Amino acid sequence: MTKYVYDFIEGDRSRADLLGGKGANLAEMTRLGLPVPPGFTVTTEACRAYLADQRPPVGLFDEVNAHLREVEARLDRRLGDPHDPLLLAVRSGGRYSMPGMMETILDIGLNDATVAGLAAQSGDPRFAWDSYRRLIQMFGRTVYGVPAEEFERELTAVRAAAGPAGPDAAQLRALVETYKKVFAAQVGHDFPQAPHEQLYLAIRAVFESWNAERAVLYRRQEHIPGDLGTAVTVMAMVFGNLGPDSGTGVAFTRDPATGQPGVYGDYLADAQGEDVVAGVRNTVALPELERIDPTSYRRLTEIMATLERHYRDLCDVEFTVERGRLWMLQTRVGKRTPAAAFVIAAQLVDEGLITLDEALHRVTGAQLAQLMFPAFDLAAAPAPLVTGVGASPGAAVGTVVFDSVAAAAATGPVILVRPETNPDDLPGMIAAQGVLTSRGGKTSHAAVVARGMGRTCVCGADALRIDAERGEFTVGDRVVRAGDRISIDGTTGRVYPGRVPTRPSPVARYLAGEVTPEGDRLVTAVDRLLSHADAVRRLGVRANADTPEDARRARGLGAAGIGLCRTEHMFLGPRRELVERLILAEDPAERDAALDALLPLQRADFVGILAAMDGLPVTIRLLDPPLHEFLPPLHELTARVARAEALGEDPGHDATLLAAVRRMHETNPMLGLRGVRLGLVVPGLFAMQVRAVAEATAQRARDGGDPRPEIMVPLVGDVRELAAVRAEAQAVLAGVPGIPPIPVGTMIETPRAALTAGEIAAEAHFFSFGTNDLTQTTWAFSRDDVEGSFFGTYLERGVFGVSPFETVDAKGVGRLVRLAVAEGRVTRPELTVGVCGEHGGDPDSIGFFADAGLDYVSCSPYRVPIARLAAGQATTGGGAVPDSR
Ligand code: PEP
Ligand code: MG
Repeated sequence: MTKYVYDFIEGDRSRADLLGGKGANLAEMTRLGLPVPPGFTVTTEACRAYLADQRPPVGLFDEVNAHLREVEARLDRRLGDPHDPLLLAVRSGGRYSMPGMMETILDIGLNDATVAGLAAQSGDPRFAWDSYRRLIQMFGRTVYGVPAEEFERELTAVRAAAGPAGPDAAQLRALVETYKKVFAAQVGHDFPQAPHEQLYLAIRAVFESWNAERAVLYRRQEHIPGDLGTAVTVMAMVFGNLGPDSGTGVAFTRDPATGQPGVYGDYLADAQGEDVVAGVRNTVALPELERIDPTSYRRLTEIMATLERHYRDLCDVEFTVERGRLWMLQTRVGKRTPAAAFVIAAQLVDEGLITLDEALHRVTGAQLAQLMFPAFDLAAAPAPLVTGVGASPGAAVGTVVFDSVAAAAATGPVILVRPETNPDDLPGMIAAQGVLTSRGGKTSHAAVVARGMGRTCVCGADALRIDAERGEFTVGDRVVRAGDRISIDGTTGRVYPGRVPTRPSPVARYLAGEVTPEGDRLVTAVDRLLSHADAVRRLGVRANADTPEDARRARGLGAAGIGLCRTEHMFLGPRRELVERLILAEDPAERDAALDALLPLQRADFVGILAAMDGLPVTIRLLDPPLHEFLPPLHELTARVARAEALGEDPGHDATLLAAVRRMHETNPMLGLRGVRLGLVVPGLFAMQVRAVAEATAQRARDGGDPRPEIMVPLVGDVRELAAVRAEAQAVLAGVPGIPPIPVGTMIETPRAALTAGEIAAEAHFFSFGTNDLTQTTWAFSRDDVEGSFFGTYLERGVFGVSPFETVDAKGVGRLVRLAVAEGRVTRPELTVGVCGEHGGDPDSIGFFADAGLDYVSCSPYRVPIARLAAGQATTGGGAVPDSR
């Protein structure tokens, strides 16, 4: 039979999956001989069974009773004994800490009879009646959903009548009677007097609280799986509210904000834990305890040192002093700020507690990302106008613009404000300091693109009413006009009016090579960990970059080349007209003229990029998007032509364009004429690009450089497509003297390419997984359509815990990746394999790619340091999910 209940003396910290973090750590402290009140833990497995069947698994409460009898024997006290009752605390505690999201019920076991026993034993009737009223209140709210204010109202009235000394025993006794009436009126029956029934109901309520709305929301935010369930710890009560020699507190073994060693925490005399949380009275700083109760203080600091040495990490603890006796109620590896995470990891290495390899796993890529962004000086911030989703971290200040044209025309920094963004807004996003949208979440177009570019982004601020026509947005009755200044915080999602001052990030300055690490504790720690990651990692890190400036920045941040240079970005702006000519060409001569005009421009682009990445590989991808993306949108042209015709005017060039756009219109362009297909049907297009690469290479070589371009073909599905383009490319390359060999490879971004990778490798010098398209085509998701429509529901319903566009779907897309790597290398053992989709910069995906045997990941320049760290973590073992999550 399944065992559902473990005594604290049975488990240890390694069993957090089963006992929850709290239960496992209580067991660990018990094992260490620390003063933990006796108790037991009901497993997460029992919770899962309960939630699945909506009833406790068979035998659960028998097991609970057996463990309870052991606790009773150990303490020589029984639950429900009217003379000397045992009371119990029932607490939630899942695998990952979810602070305050689930339920706790204290003082289980009190009833009309045992309250007298508690009064006699404690010698304090006031305390006994106060405990009883606390139980009815917590139990009513947690088990039966009685609104908190129903009890609060009565409590406030009694407190007001009692005056500064607080209610006496008689008043509290009367309050208990009132509470019992409130309970019966709200619930429909009397408060349960049977202590065992109280206990069973409390355990069920804790199980249920796993699915409380706030708990579900918190898990989604923190990427904690929704099916783990919570454990329930049941522990003998100890009392911090037995007078001035009692109290309760929380403490950290180091400062969780900065990592500084020392004694940090809060203490509240004559109180229970819930009073600290409720902020009823002000706490004192923990060092005060030394004055109040030196013995307990000394013992507490000893225990904290023991815990830190044992866990080899920052720990936080909750404790209670009952009449001068210290009890440990909880410990865990504590949550900390990103800065503290790095500083503590480095300190623990210095203290000889952990190795550098282990230190790498004490920090995350997300924490490093946080440290790279400037932050607002919150002391100087006004009340926010509105709060949306913090989608791409950073602190951006600028004047409001509502479209790309205004963003590009502006002379100072701007914030682009849109209901949502689409690829047409790209120029505006590039020009802006930050992006603010009223629709969409963390995986919306705005969010993904902004993260990729390192732009600050707040999205989904749905209280914004945007009226771009009038050039304003409103929030309630506040109006913000184009040209007004706002500040947006991409970490918290807050939007402020006016300019909030920022502080530059010392870590970003160090990573960009502007400052050396010495002298700043945080920067030294980052340098130490990142250098170690570089020393141990096997995975290379390249960048996705399309301009010399981005290439230089990426190199500065540690990129060992470019893994994806998207050439379509070079066809925008004034060059769009040349592409238009190419598309509209009616004969080969017109087409060649357009290509000839593009060639020198494209060559110059490549010269710049190859120079910035001199000596390092630069993978240049031939044109990918459908050509109509370079023409004006159909609806715009239709309107222009219709207007001209209605006014009796000649629509001129617009009529020609409209005909072309209609001809090329595709219902589903993502799956239409794009990628390698363009190369096969638009004569001369790829040849022009290959020639530009070859001539730029020759020029760089003549100038004494060390150019190392690679040519990459997008969206291949069959080896014959690649073979045709490769033959054409090699013919062009052969005609340009003075160049080193230039590899020709392919993206693997369709399922068919992955499934036939063995054949394709015969024609490819390298593979690069385009996991953006591979995710779209494997799931049959059109990203632009699905993210804005049903992804929210899918995340809510738990179809996936995280968007497959954010973290690679290891089971499906990942399986294709593994297969393609294996079969590609059978054909060509020396095949170089990388990834250049968005996932190349995602720490969780990087672990997968390392394991799948890739040679490198390629990501946006700003994510290069994060990828370096994640690649180091991948080499030193396991995923990077520290216990402190
Ligand atoms: C990809 O599909 O993963 C990729 C890198 O190409 P793009 O995003 O440009 O389609
Ligand atoms: Mg692609």
